[in-house]
Amino acid sequence: MPAGSHAFQVGSIRCTVLSDGYFRYPVSWFFPNADPGELSRELENRHLPHESILSPYTCLLVETGRHVVLVDTGAGVSSSTTGAIVARLEMAGIRPKDVDTVVLTHAHPDHVGGAIDARNPRFPRPAFPNAIYMLSDLEWEFWTAARTDLRALRLPDDMKYEIDCTARRCLTPLRLQVEPVEKEIDIVPGVRAIPAPGHTPGHLAVLLSSDGEQLLNLGDAAVHPLHLEHPEWGNGFDLAPEQAAATRRALLERAVAENMHLMAFHFPFPSVGRVAPRAGGGWEWMPGW
Ligand SMILES: [Zn+2]
Repeated sequence: MPAGSHAFQVGSIRCTVLSDGYFRYPVSWFFPNADPGELSRELENRHLPHESILSPYTCLLVETGRHVVLVDTGAGVSSSTTGAIVARLEMAGIRPKDVDTVVLTHAHPDHVGGAIDARNPRFPRPAFPNAIYMLSDLEWEFWTAARTDLRALRLPDDMKYEIDCTARRCLTPLRLQVEPVEKEIDIVPGVRAIPAPGHTPGHLAVLLSSDGEQLLNLGDAAVHPLHLEHPEWGNGFDLAPEQAAATRRALLERAVAENMHLMAFHFPFPSVGRVAPRAGGGWEWMPGW
């Protein structure tokens, strides 16, 4: 496989994680309520810089035999370090017109930026012309409303403005191909959307099941492995921090109880692994497939 992708099977479902690139964020945006001393020690232990987090963007290609599903589309051409998804798909043998279903876990720029083909910025079109785009009805309504209230985000105002504008710019051209998800439901056989609100109002997790194996894609219910070890640490991008924390706990408890593999869009590539409860609370991230 080409660099930047990694394939594996969930039962009879073929999965390929595809790197869209990465972006660097101030540490304070990722851990706005962490105790500074404790956060410093944790970053030190991992030999990570203290000023910024290099955050990967990882989409998931799902081939069930009957359906070609893409979970999240990456950031598109919004920065020089992202926008690789169409090229990665083509290296995996999939053309944009082959994708029949796109699942958007939520409408933040790093997940919807690649949903549109903006080569002609005046007439952006869906990047996947034959796909149904599935996202939560709550997500669609929130971002396409006349006014979007992002005051609860623990981020600078210009970042909030960027998030708001990008969601509108990317969702509007999709309107004729959108199918809203109103509850936990099978998107195609073996691929289930699970409401996982808090990060955004309509944030979805995606559960793949086949032949007794399961992979739970957390989306952005956790954006760094430290959020598993310290579930009380929030993320500045969570619109409803308490609801996001409750959702994160519920998903991880379900993953442990049902022995699931996990994937998280922003975890170190290839962004798949498992979790185990820690004696002191929280969960340990064990990367790998
Ligand atoms: Zn994200």
